[in-house]
Amino acid sequence: MTFSQFNMDSRLAEAVAQAGYSTPTPIQDKTIPIALEGTDVLGLAQTGTGKTAAFLLPILQRLTDGPRRRTRALILAPTRELAEQIHEETIKLSGRTGIRSAAVYGGVSKRNQIAAFRKGTEIIIACPGRLLDHLGERAIDLSRVEVLVLDEADRMFDMGFLPDVRRIIAGLPRQRQNLFFSATMPDKIRDLADHTLHNAASVQIGLIAPAETVSHALYPVSTDRKKELLYSLLNSTESDRALIFTRTKHRARSLAVSLEKKGYRVAALQGNMSQNARQRSISGFRSGRYDLLVATDIASRGIDVIQISHVINFDVPDTVDAYIHRIGRTGRVGKAGQAYTLAVGDDASMVREIEKVLASPIERRRLEGFDYAGFNPEAQFGRGDRRGYQTPRRPGGSDSRRRRSSPGPKRYRSRPVRPN
Ligand code: AMP
Repeated sequence: MTFSQFNMDSRLAEAVAQAGYSTPTPIQDKTIPIALEGTDVLGLAQTGTGKTAAFLLPILQRLTDGPRRRTRALILAPTRELAEQIHEETIKLSGRTGIRSAAVYGGVSKRNQIAAFRKGTEIIIACPGRLLDHLGERAIDLSRVEVLVLDEADRMFDMGFLPDVRRIIAGLPRQRQNLFFSATMPDKIRDLADHTLHNAASVQIGLIAPAETVSHALYPVSTDRKKELLYSLLNSTESDRALIFTRTKHRARSLAVSLEKKGYRVAALQGNMSQNARQRSISGFRSGRYDLLVATDIASRGIDVIQISHVINFDVPDTVDAYIHRIGRTGRVGKAGQAYTLAVGDDASMVREIEKVLASPIERRRLEGFDYAGFNPEAQFGRGDRRGYQTPRRPGGSDSRRRRSSPGPKRYRSRPVRPN
């Protein structure tokens, strides 16, 4: 399968090739032909599957024809980071078509956004709150929108944005194409889809099951040895770049500070940071200035750094969905990834929930040479699969073994932090 089967405008075909996409991903294979026909789509797919291009390419194809300099496509996203990322993908895929897009979210000045509306932009990618502000001030005209995309609809719901989304949808032209994407399908999203989509085609990619390229490992530990275990894991793990999750903003900040003191090149990403500071963390992580990013769930939505080799759950997430979203950051589009979870006794029931969804036990691991201070993991977490506890010398499984023999492996080491 290649992209040429979709018969898209040659400028789009060229941009796709420039982006380095040679084969459509499964969600693209299923979604693009349907969306090109103008049919509504309800897509069940998580981040990392290539869903952004799955909705962007049909939109761009539509916009190559017809009037310019008016807003014809509206994409709603739950977070600024995701909006920014979709915007970047739009710039990449629009190639030489001259189609414009603007990202619209709060926390930054409205001035540039309004200037973009005035110049005339065909695609608006917006977070609901700021978009409503602009609508209230009559700064934006959505009366000619032909396509609506709702991305990460379940996250919109989690973040309490559904009433805002409904208000926005109510003001759009009735005659339009709708493309909804969600990693899970809670009742509220099903309701919204039932009321909004018309004769939609359902497209489903690996319902909630995470990418097959990710391998999972559980490291039971006592609460007071958790940080030490993280340091030991990082010191003995070969990896490119790791994303570390904590449960709260405060823990993200303090863990990043502790890691920095240990000499790691690390940044934090949490909701109390200004938009500029978040952007600096993301771009520093993307460029390789930082090896580690310590993030909370919400702040991390949509971070798109393909080279993330490891996701480390310093804290077990509160929901199975959050686990799936977190580990969706690694193992992207065919690359192997590792998901490590540090679990304390209280996490045992959530671990069982996660294993139910994964439909298999997560491999139990014990880090060789680490002082567990008398902690007995089997009492709380059982033996896992039939192999029981594994004690890899270098955590990372087959992937790290493979990479050790290839050029340029990198292992976390305590290194001096470069000044900013
Ligand atoms: P998404 O799920 O849209 O966040 O996409 C995940 C990552 O996959 C992004 O970095 C895309 O640039 C990349 N990607 C999307 N489509 C393809 C493709 N057909 N081949 C290779 N990479 C892709």
